[in-house]
Amino acid sequence: MFSSLSEKLQDVFKKLRGKGKLTEKDIKDAMKEVKLALLEADVNYKVVKDFINTVTQKAVGEEVLESLTPAQQVIKIVYDEMVNLLGGNDTKLTFSPSGFSIYMMVGLQGSGKTTTAGKLAALLKKQGKKPLLIACDIYRPAAIKQLEVVAEKVGVSCYADYDKKDAVKIAVEGVNFAKSNRFDIAIVDTAGRLHINEELMNELVAIKSAIKPTEILLVLDAMTGQDAVNVAEAFNNQLGIDGIIMTKLDGDTRGGAALSVKAITGKPIKFAGMGEKMEDLEVFYPDRMASRILGMGDILTLIEKAQEAIDQKKAEELEKKLRSMQFTLEDFLDQLKQIKKMGPLSQIISMIPGIKLKGDVDFDAGEKELKKIEAIINSMTKEERQDPSIINSSRKRRIAMGSGTTVQDVNRLLKQFEDMKRMMKQFSNPSFAKKGKFKFP
Ligand code: GDP
Repeated sequence: MFSSLSEKLQDVFKKLRGKGKLTEKDIKDAMKEVKLALLEADVNYKVVKDFINTVTQKAVGEEVLESLTPAQQVIKIVYDEMVNLLGGNDTKLTFSPSGFSIYMMVGLQGSGKTTTAGKLAALLKKQGKKPLLIACDIYRPAAIKQLEVVAEKVGVSCYADYDKKDAVKIAVEGVNFAKSNRFDIAIVDTAGRLHINEELMNELVAIKSAIKPTEILLVLDAMTGQDAVNVAEAFNNQLGIDGIIMTKLDGDTRGGAALSVKAITGKPIKFAGMGEKMEDLEVFYPDRMASRILGMGDILTLIEKAQEAIDQKKAEELEKKLRSMQFTLEDFLDQLKQIKKMGPLSQIISMIPGIKLKGDVDFDAGEKELKKIEAIINSMTKEERQDPSIINSSRKRRIAMGSGTTVQDVNRLLKQFEDMKRMMKQFSNPSFAKKGKFKFP
């Protein structure tokens, strides 16, 4: 997903970061590359133009915050604009205040509408709701069967009527059935076509006015790129939609449709289909998606949290020590304590750029590991913390006993510390150390 765009943008930012100070020309050159990357990702041309203009204007005019380097500031502007492009804060599914919500699923054939109806039911069920799926695609008996199969898979009920040939009637009866049988949500799966046509739109408009859905959700296939955006525009103009579910994002390396559709239609993406399985539907968060695209994890929250938790003076001292390579285990312990102040490990890790977590990760084990490290360092003498090279085997045994750990644990920590010091050495070159306030000439 977005992999090639992400790679290109990260290259642009890497170049920017490599410069201590930025000129207007640096920004404009970088923006040219961002523009190219977006166009190659198949983002709508007008959207790209507006995006670049806004970012350039802000980047060239902006004074850079004292605590950030200029490059980071530019990246933050790109990030903010990308969040806007992806829908801002306006992406939550609306529930009806009456307690009974109706979602009408619309979209072209093959977009993933039926599958997504099932996925949405599963997701809402997980949230404690009781959804009913209603099969209104009367033109293809196979479609009704498919919805029934999907419903069974996710363990929700499905309303179908193989004999009726009137989609509006089925929709109304289905919704009534849901109401009188204590369902709190009705998900109406409507018919699709290969292309938009008047007949389809008329039917959808009739269903809309008969059941008055809480939201009309348009299912769009991300792999169809700008065609998907055109489809969205047509559906929005002719029927009116409230939100978009972008499917097959898992197979879409470019991401042009996802990045264009809000700007073109004004309607946000609310969910993202990330695979064929019933659990592969994610709530769409523009900020998280923008972070992923820019390869940043969620670095901005991380910076904020760090600023809250880390004592600025101590940080400066630490920086000096790091540069002069006088960083000791004592400082390491200090750092650990400050990191712990930032929150649970699971939260911190998920915000670190470049770390992609797959499946279930045992964060409790991570917390335990941190505690162990703390205990080991606490069991060392002051001299040992200052100069770990004096820690021989008998000292290691003593430390292990004192901390309730093993000699292997002690060895592992000492090795980690040495590795870390080696890494710090690479970072402590002068170009990395450049800092300071910045203004464009
Ligand atoms: P409909 O004609 O719009 O109802 O589309 P279907 O629900 O039958 O889906 C068409 C195909 O797309 C099926 O093979 C689905 O498994 C597949 N599909 C749907 N959503 C996703 C998704 O998010 N990712 C992937 N990879 N495939 C999907």
